[in-house]
Amino acid sequence: MTDLNPSNFQKCTDMTVEKIQIDTLVVGAGQAGVATSEHLSKLGVPHLVLERNRIAEAWRTGRWDSLVANGPAWHDRFPGLEFAGLDPDAFAPKEQVADYFEAYAKKFNAPIRTGVEVQSVERNSDRPGFTVNTSAGLIEARHVVVATGPFQRPVIPPIAPAISGVQQIHSADYRNPQQLAAGAVLVVGAGSSGVQIADELQRAGKQVYLSVGAHDRPPRAYRNRDFCWWLGVLGEWDAEAMQPGKEHVTIAVSGARGGETIDFRRLAQQGMTLVGLTESFNGAVVNFAANLADNIARGDENYLALLDAADAYIARNGLDLPLEPEARSLLPDPACVSQPILQLDLVKAGVGTIIWATGYTVDYSWLKVNAFKDNGKPQHQRGVSSEPGVYFVGLPWQSRRGSAFIWGVWHDAKHVADHIVKQRTYFAYRDAAQRQADAEQACAAPLQPASCMGVR
Ligand SMILES: Cc1cc2nc3c(=O)[nH]c(=O)nc-3n(C[C@H](O)[C@H](O)[C@H](O)COP(=O)(O)OP(=O)(O)OC[C@H]3O[C@@H](n4cnc5c(N)ncnc54)[C@H](O)[C@@H]3O)c2cc1C
Repeated sequence: MTDLNPSNFQKCTDMTVEKIQIDTLVVGAGQAGVATSEHLSKLGVPHLVLERNRIAEAWRTGRWDSLVANGPAWHDRFPGLEFAGLDPDAFAPKEQVADYFEAYAKKFNAPIRTGVEVQSVERNSDRPGFTVNTSAGLIEARHVVVATGPFQRPVIPPIAPAISGVQQIHSADYRNPQQLAAGAVLVVGAGSSGVQIADELQRAGKQVYLSVGAHDRPPRAYRNRDFCWWLGVLGEWDAEAMQPGKEHVTIAVSGARGGETIDFRRLAQQGMTLVGLTESFNGAVVNFAANLADNIARGDENYLALLDAADAYIARNGLDLPLEPEARSLLPDPACVSQPILQLDLVKAGVGTIIWATGYTVDYSWLKVNAFKDNGKPQHQRGVSSEPGVYFVGLPWQSRRGSAFIWGVWHDAKHVADHIVKQRTYFAYRDAAQRQADAEQACAAPLQPASCMGVR
């Protein structure tokens, strides 16, 4: 077995021949893997990052064409690098986000090997660490950091039957309006993805039905500050636990067209038909819950609560930020909200496509260790899992609300890297007898260190 350091590993063209040993293996080179690598590098921990595709692949090919970051460039970035050539208040297009992480990794020469998939990780039974099976050979690692992303497998709820003549795709597979079949579109889910996709389709001339569940919709900006700033100063990004009852509440924000507050009434004014939560299907007839007005009202409450908290913060700190009373005037309820459609025959309505913007789940089937709860979700504290030596980075709410987002993951990665260093320090401890044996061995070597003077 060869003990390769990361730079040797990068140069290694064929790793199928020998088993490689490394202290820490990071799986995945999205933002979570890059952040982890930066902290491990700073702390001097030998490590490798294996990525089955390319760095930040999700930002290149896992999103629709027109996507821009939801947060402004000054906020949605790591501390060590600004977006090149981008106004700090602008919203980076997805390709530029991917380029950013690639440049970031280059900046500290991150030991990333792309095009290698980790296929299984198993704890060794007779020695410390894990045996890792990859598409390019075996690796022995003392620690494994799982940075494979919070949004891995698209989820389509099992309520949907196949409907002849109606194309059904997940938002993960949506790219642009031209890709869709002719006819109207039903977008299910009005979080950041669903609402942006619905808006784009409607602007492209499609008739759009948008199924709206429980959501938060912070103002894009208020009194000259972006909502990312407000969530920061109000401590909401740092909230350590989700408010009870918010588990199924999505957040609707957008950086599209320079950033706008998501306003469902404005979308209806534009010509979109809003409907309640998609509950069930009866053949081609879809049933919507009678909760649209309630969902819109709760979204308003969330919006107004942020304005109140912002006003209170400004007053408390004596800040000189311009008043914005017009932010509090809401449009009247459109007909689709006051007299909601509860059933829609998709065929009669000419719906050619359903887009399920219904979120993602994770797949850890390759991680054969004791790091999971009964429901299959990671069992961990701030990313330190219940399987000693296995860590997660990039989980939603890993330590706080910001954890799965660009700026938040960097801080969680630091905690995980620090934990690995502590474990390495304990593991490196040698008792007196071992230290004596080490010294004797060193002195017996042909080239004796200066510390041997006087030992004999
Ligand atoms: C539509 C959308 C828009 C978003 N917009 C924003 C935004 O504007 N701002 C923001 O802060 N956050 C945003 N997010 C949230 C979050 O920032 C992204 O999801 C981000 O991609 C998560 O980064 P990650 O590194 O944790 O995971 P990923 O980017 O998913 O990276 C994980 C990597 O692991 C690799 N991988 C997985 N399994 C293996 C394996 N077995 N072996 C080797 N490699 C493997 C994958 O190929 C992938 O490259 C958005 C999310 C979505 C879905």
